[in-house]
Amino acid sequence: MTSRNHQLFEQSQQYIPGGVNSPVRAFKSVGGEPVFFQRGEGAYFWDADGKQYIDYVGSWGPLILGHAHPDVVKTVQAVVQNGLTFGAPTEAELDIAKLICQLLPSIEQVRLVSSGTEAGMSVIRLARGFTGRSKIIKFEGCYHGHDDSLLVKAGSGALTFGNPSSAGVPAETAGHTIVLDFNDIAGVEEAFNKWGKEIAAVIVEPVAGNMNLIAPKADFLAKLRALCTQNGSVLIFDEVMTGFRVGLGCAQGLYQIKPDLTALGKVIGGGMPMAAFGGRRDIMQYLAPLGPVYQAGTLSGNPVAVAAGLATLKLIQAPGFYDRLADRTRQLVDGLSATAKNHGIDFCAQSIGGMFGLYFSKDIPTSFAEVMQCDKAAFNRFFHAMLEEGVYFAPSAFEAGFVSAMHGDAELNKTLSAAEKIFKSW
Ligand code: PMP
Repeated sequence: MTSRNHQLFEQSQQYIPGGVNSPVRAFKSVGGEPVFFQRGEGAYFWDADGKQYIDYVGSWGPLILGHAHPDVVKTVQAVVQNGLTFGAPTEAELDIAKLICQLLPSIEQVRLVSSGTEAGMSVIRLARGFTGRSKIIKFEGCYHGHDDSLLVKAGSGALTFGNPSSAGVPAETAGHTIVLDFNDIAGVEEAFNKWGKEIAAVIVEPVAGNMNLIAPKADFLAKLRALCTQNGSVLIFDEVMTGFRVGLGCAQGLYQIKPDLTALGKVIGGGMPMAAFGGRRDIMQYLAPLGPVYQAGTLSGNPVAVAAGLATLKLIQAPGFYDRLADRTRQLVDGLSATAKNHGIDFCAQSIGGMFGLYFSKDIPTSFAEVMQCDKAAFNRFFHAMLEEGVYFAPSAFEAGFVSAMHGDAELNKTLSAAEKIFKSW
C-alpha cells in the first residue's frame, strides 16, 4: 500500500517546487522522502500516516515549549476572536517590546518583523545606513536568512570576497560581503587592518547553529566586540536561533558580550511568524519614520503572532526553566555519546542550553572546515534508522537540534534505547 506521506509528496511536487516551501525540508541532504506532519503535542508529532515521532527539530527552534502548549494555544484562541490584523499599533506590541528590552540590556529599542530573514536584512541595511559604509563581514557557514548580501559564502581561501551562493544574487551585491572563518580572530584582524573604516558591520551567530553546532572559542566574541568598537563598525549578533534558546539572557548574556544590534526570531514568536531586531537607541533611531533607513511590514507586529510570543516569553521566565532545559539537553548528548563510545563508533555530541550538535567524528569540531570533515554518510544512516524508530532529528548533518521543555525522562529513554539498538548493530 502506498503511504499517505508518499502520495502527498508526489502531488506536492506537481504544485510546489521540490514539493516543499523551504528547501531543507525536502530531505535532499539525507536522501529519501520528507515526512508530512498533521498534528503535534508536547515533545511528539504525528505524520500523515499516523506514525508518532519524538521531535528534536521543534520547527527549527521556535517550539521551546513543545507543540501546542495549552497556554499558548489558549492565548492565541482568545486573541484571534478580536481580529487577525490591524496594520496599526496595538498595546500588545508595546508589551512585548518592553519585555524584550527588559530581558536583553543591549536592546534599547526594538522593531518587530515577520521572519528571521527580514530581521537579518533589516539590521544590515540599518548598519549600512548608520555608518554610511557598504562592506560587511560574515562567517562561512553562518546563516542569516536569504537576503542577497547575506547569501554569500567563501571559497576555501582564508580571506576572500564572497561569491554568491545562490543564482540571482548580483556579484556586485555579494562583492560587499567579506566572508571569513568562524572562530578565526586572526582573519578578522587582517580584514580590519585592510578595510577597517569601510566595514559597516560584523554579523555573527554567537553560537553557530547552521553548520551543525559550533561553539565560539573563548574570546572570539569579545575580540569581535573590541575590533568593531575600535573601527566604528556595528557588531550584530544574529540570535534568531540562540535567542531564548541558550538561556534567558540569550547568547549575549551567556558570554557577557553586548552587541550593538541583535536579530531575534524563532522562540520569540512562539511558533507564529514573528521576529525582531533591536539594539542601541542611537542606531535604531536611524529607522523610518524617524530616520533615513526604510523598513516596513504589513503584518509586522501581527496581534496573533505577538500574543503567541508573549505567552511563550512569559513561560520561559519561570525559575529554573533554563537549568532544566540545559540539563535535559546535556543528558541527551551525554547519553548518545556514551552509547556510541560503548560500541566503538566515532561519534561525539555537545549542547549549549537547549540546542545541541551531533557529529560523526572523533572530536567536536570548532570550525567550518572541521565540521565538513564529519562523516556525512554515517549521519544519514543514523538519521534514517532513528526516523524508523520514531525519533525525528534535523534532516541534515549540518543543522543543530533542539530540545523542548516537554522532553522528559520517557522521551529521553526512548531516544537512547533507539540509539543503543542502532549503534549495537552499526
Ligand atoms: N538567522 C539564523 C541564525 C537562523 O537560524 C535563521 C533560520 N534558520 C534565520 C536567520 C532566518 O530566519 P527565517 O527562516 O525565519 O527567515
